[in-house]
Amino acid sequence: MLKGYIPPYNATVVQKLLDQGAVLLGKTNLDEFAMGSGSTDGIFGPVRNPWSYSKQYREKRKQSHHRADEDSNWLITGGSSGGSAAAVSAFTCFAALGSDTGGSTRNPAALCGLVGLKPTYGLVSRYGLIPLVNSMDVPGILTRCVDDAAIVLGVLAGHDPKDSTTTQDPVGPFILPILRDVSKLCIGIPKEYNVPELSSEMQAFWSKAADLFASKGAKVVEVSLPHTSYSIVCYHVLCTAEVASNMARFDGLEYGHRCNVNVSTEAMYAATRREGFNDVVRGRILSGNFFLLRENYDDYFVKAQKVRRLIANDFVKVFNSGVDVLLTPTTLSDAVPYLEFIKEDNRTRSAQDDIFTQSVNMAGLPAVNVPMALSSQGLPVGLQLIGRAFSDQQLLTVAKWFE
Ligand code: GLN
Repeated sequence: MLKGYIPPYNATVVQKLLDQGAVLLGKTNLDEFAMGSGSTDGIFGPVRNPWSYSKQYREKRKQSHHRADEDSNWLITGGSSGGSAAAVSAFTCFAALGSDTGGSTRNPAALCGLVGLKPTYGLVSRYGLIPLVNSMDVPGILTRCVDDAAIVLGVLAGHDPKDSTTTQDPVGPFILPILRDVSKLCIGIPKEYNVPELSSEMQAFWSKAADLFASKGAKVVEVSLPHTSYSIVCYHVLCTAEVASNMARFDGLEYGHRCNVNVSTEAMYAATRREGFNDVVRGRILSGNFFLLRENYDDYFVKAQKVRRLIANDFVKVFNSGVDVLLTPTTLSDAVPYLEFIKEDNRTRSAQDDIFTQSVNMAGLPAVNVPMALSSQGLPVGLQLIGRAFSDQQLLTVAKWFE
């Protein structure tokens, strides 16, 4: 839809980086309009995970009698900001930006062995970011270590008159102290995140991380986020409703692609949108319009907004009870081969993959994926730390201790 379109202005995050002397190397691939969890649905084709070609992974595959040199064995990066993750993971750049509406920065960071930060909603300007769900979108940061993420956040964070949802309070400077003592920290482990789809290996890494905090004196407590099981459907209704409205601007007149149909304006709109959007985007527009029909609005959209509040309140209650940081998995497993990923219905699989990340966006909280170890397949495994709103500095300090 945006083929050949060159925006006439820079996003605030881009301008801030340029103002600080950053060198921008280019734009990276992603799922179309950031809808997805695999980076397999972009117009430029799927993104390959650089770890597919790592010595560790190839050795392990050889040991399990797979032909590691088979081209079809390559792994997905996760998504939707998979191109950004691949670029940082392959050492082609120092850092990359992504967007995070339901996990799209943390998910590829986890599968590519990177730090992936979703800042608190309102800490970083969304001006110039193509909206997916306006009330959940945040520019995300992908780097190889926590200090690098803090440096980039220091450049990006702060009030922007062009985004009225950005905080007016002073922020930063995001220079991370070295935490020597974690004994005053309380780490919460949400029991509802122990879902049946979680791989047993991931579950073991999660317990190991909790034990590490406990062994160094932190208080580790089991907590409850009782509305977690509603988060995927709730996100789906809110996301598709906003997609239906946000995508209305792509009509063939203002931006990019225009279909050469001149029977009527409506026919031109329809043909342009049929040609310009992939089936994921078109599917979400259709579902969103269904949820927004007058007879469905209260039963779906209004109800989902209420459930979103309950999900956000779950976090508030946990943090009010004295928990400083929540420790959870980021993804259900390590990276899967592309051919396996596309075998199942892609959208069902994507939806399941976001179980640990989406409610954080609905609550507007900061969260970060921190690489932890390599799996038995020789692939990166990461865990997620979630903090109170605007506790990004503290969250990153704990993440630095953990990394
Ligand atoms: N996977 C989620 C979706 O497809 C999240 C996407 C995102 O964070 N941009 O909506």
